[in-house]
Amino acid sequence: MAQIIDGKKISQEIKDELRGQVAAWKEDGTEVTLAVVQVGNDPASSVYVNNKKKACAYIGIRSLSYELAEETTEEELLALIDQLNRDDTVNGILVQLPVPPQIREDRIIQAISPAKDVDGFHPENVGRLVIGEPGFVSCTPAGIVQLLKRSGISISGKRCVVVGRSNIVGKPMALLMLRENATVTVAHSKTENLKELCREADILIVAIGKPQYITADYVKEGAVVIDVGIHRNAENKLCGDVKYDEVFPVVSAITPVPGGVGPMTIAMLMNNCVASVSR
Ligand code: NDP
Repeated sequence: MAQIIDGKKISQEIKDELRGQVAAWKEDGTEVTLAVVQVGNDPASSVYVNNKKKACAYIGIRSLSYELAEETTEEELLALIDQLNRDDTVNGILVQLPVPPQIREDRIIQAISPAKDVDGFHPENVGRLVIGEPGFVSCTPAGIVQLLKRSGISISGKRCVVVGRSNIVGKPMALLMLRENATVTVAHSKTENLKELCREADILIVAIGKPQYITADYVKEGAVVIDVGIHRNAENKLCGDVKYDEVFPVVSAITPVPGGVGPMTIAMLMNNCVASVSR
C-alpha cells in the first residue's frame, strides 16, 4: 500500500517549530517582520496574500500590509521596495506575483535586497543555490525536499526526474535534488520519449501545469511521485498534474492534491522569514 505523503501534517510540524523559535526570540526582544506587498486586487492573489498573513499571525511574525492600486507605476513600486530595503525593522519583503502589465516583474525581483528576498527569486539567491552557498531558496521546491526527508524517503543516489523547468519550481527543484546527491534529469515540453524517461525515475517530480497529464504508464513500479500541479477539474474539484487514482497503486509514496505540496509552500515561506532574521 502506497504511503500518502501528508503535506498538511508536515507543514503544521514546521509551522509549530517556527512558532517556538519566534516565541523564544520575542522573549529576548527580537521580532520578525515581513512586508507583504500586493498591487491590484486579483482575487487569486488576495487569497494567497491572506493565507500568508494568516500563517504569519499563527507563527508570531509581524506582517506589514501594503495594498497598492492596480494602476501603480513601476517607479512607485520600486520606491516602496527601496524604502523597505532600508528599513532595519523589516526582515523580509514579499511582492505577490503576478504584478500588472505596466510593471516589469524581473525589475521588481531584482530590486528586493537579496538579504530580504524570502521568495528566493533574486538572481543572487538563485546563483547561491547553483554554487552551493547558503541563501534563500524558492519555497515550493524547498518544501518538497522537506516532504521527502520528513517522510523518511532517502534521496542520495536516487534517480530523480523533474518534469518542468520554470524558474520558480523546476530549475530550483533540480538544483536542490542535486545538492541532496540525487542523479537528476530535467524534462520539459521539448523532451522526447518523456514516458520512457519518467519510467526511469525513483523519484518523479511533476510541475508541468497540465491537469492529470501523468498517467500510470509514466511511472516505475515502487517510485515516489511528487505532484506540484494544482488545478480545478470539470467538477470544480482540485486535482494535480498526476492522475492520482491510476498512479496510486503503482507507487511506493505519493503526494495528494490538495494536501501535498501546496501547504508546504507557505510553511517554507515562513521558514525563510524566520531565517531572514539572521541574514
Ligand atoms: P510553468 O508553466 O511556468 O512551467 C511549466 C513547465 O512544464 C515548463 O518548463 C514547460 O516546458 C513544462 N511542460 C509543459 N508541458 C509539458 C509537457 N507536455 N511535457 C513536459 N513538460 C511540459 O509552471 P510552474 O512551474 O510555475 O507551475 C507548474 C504547476 O505547479 C502549475 O500547475 C502550478 O499551478 C503549480 N504550482 C503549485 C505550487 C504549489 O504551491 N502547490 C507552487 C507553484 C506552482 P517548457 O519550458 O519547454 O515550456
